[in-house]
Amino acid sequence: MPLTLPEQCLFCRRLQTWEASSKADPDVVWRFPHSVVVLGSWQYYHGYCVLISRIHAEELSQLERTVRDAFLAEMCLLAEVLEKEFQPRKLNYELLGNQVPHLHWHLFPRYADDPGHLKPVWVAIERAEGNAEEQARLTNGPCPREETARRIARRLQELTAR
Ligand SMILES: [Zn+2]
Repeated sequence: MPLTLPEQCLFCRRLQTWEASSKADPDVVWRFPHSVVVLGSWQYYHGYCVLISRIHAEELSQLERTVRDAFLAEMCLLAEVLEKEFQPRKLNYELLGNQVPHLHWHLFPRYADDPGHLKPVWVAIERAEGNAEEQARLTNGPCPREETARRIARRLQELTAR
């Protein structure tokens, strides 16, 4: 039994909107053939992106092998770009889908000056719930979102042009 049907899925609806709209969403950083890169909310983890599969599936096993391989390769390309551009201490890769059961990767660059760098980001994010000041701290990155998006897109452009 699927957890969500595509017509009720938040990400399927967003993907449709991005396809249909001529107006560019500033949070959409890059469109790969099998996935779309979106700049994430929590830019304290500077460069944080969500990579959303263009196909509605809940588990990797539900993708055809060639599609799955391509989706994973796109994730690795994005990871490489985030490493190069932001030089984090460590990159965190998460494919959860408990809340939105549509395949999407969270790629969180983690920095040494983050006091919680040994723990998953969700500990701090959950702690920030209902605390506006803490939420603002985790939302704001060291530069404007548009600049972060531009930097990621430029690197992806270089890497995919090879
Ligand atoms: Zn979906």
